[in-house]
Amino acid sequence: MNDSSATRNRINEVFDRIEHAANRSGRTRKDITVVAVGKTHPVEDFFPVIEAGIRHFGESRIQEAEDKIPQLSERDIIWHMIGHLQRNKAKNAIRLFRQLHSLDSKRLARRLQKLLAREGESDFSAFIQVNTSGEESKYGIDPDQLVPMMDLIEEECPQLGVNGLMTMAPLTEDETKIRKTFSALRELTGKIDTTHYASIDLHNLSMGMTNDYEIAIEEGATHVRIGRALFGERLSR
Ligand SMILES: *Cc1c(COP(=O)(O)O)cnc(C)c1O
Repeated sequence: MNDSSATRNRINEVFDRIEHAANRSGRTRKDITVVAVGKTHPVEDFFPVIEAGIRHFGESRIQEAEDKIPQLSERDIIWHMIGHLQRNKAKNAIRLFRQLHSLDSKRLARRLQKLLAREGESDFSAFIQVNTSGEESKYGIDPDQLVPMMDLIEEECPQLGVNGLMTMAPLTEDETKIRKTFSALRELTGKIDTTHYASIDLHNLSMGMTNDYEIAIEEGATHVRIGRALFGERLSR
């Protein structure tokens, strides 16, 4: 279990850095949603983070989420699925999470639509994950597939709300490359006229993790997904 005063210090430092990065992009800390990523950590480690005022938490594996989320059901938490979602786990995801950051295929969109239509009313919404780094190994659709994906969602997936885009920076020390990955996502939203899409809003940008969240905020991130900087190093699975 984490020492909670150490956690408190880590959180204060992250809040500080977010504040400064937000100011550099003409915003304040309130404009940035911190999604705290507690993957591998037991639920005890969440308490100091919740007490610091964080309400949004992210998990990347369904099995782990199924174990932990019910244990924290008394807390007022909004859960985000941030990892790649297999279609055969889509049903579990809808039950557990409010937001999906990794909508990365038309097949997954269709599956989610089917399930959401069955459920009727739902708060579930998604970020479309776009591969703006050009790295082969990354999930996410190619930037030129974004409009076709939006068209499909608009025409066939009326229950599936889209509230923004998500990307991941390449694993590199090269700040220029990282920044380009983020600015490319922002620029993509500027190129698309969303006025004729009823269920699609591209105003939110989910980008930035422990190593690069300040750069992401400078480039317009509205949601940062931060694990290690808040929880400390991950425990082995
Ligand atoms: C693990 C993970 C994060 C958080 O990573 P840190 O480097 O610990 O901040 C963010 N986004 C996704 C998709 C992840 O899988």
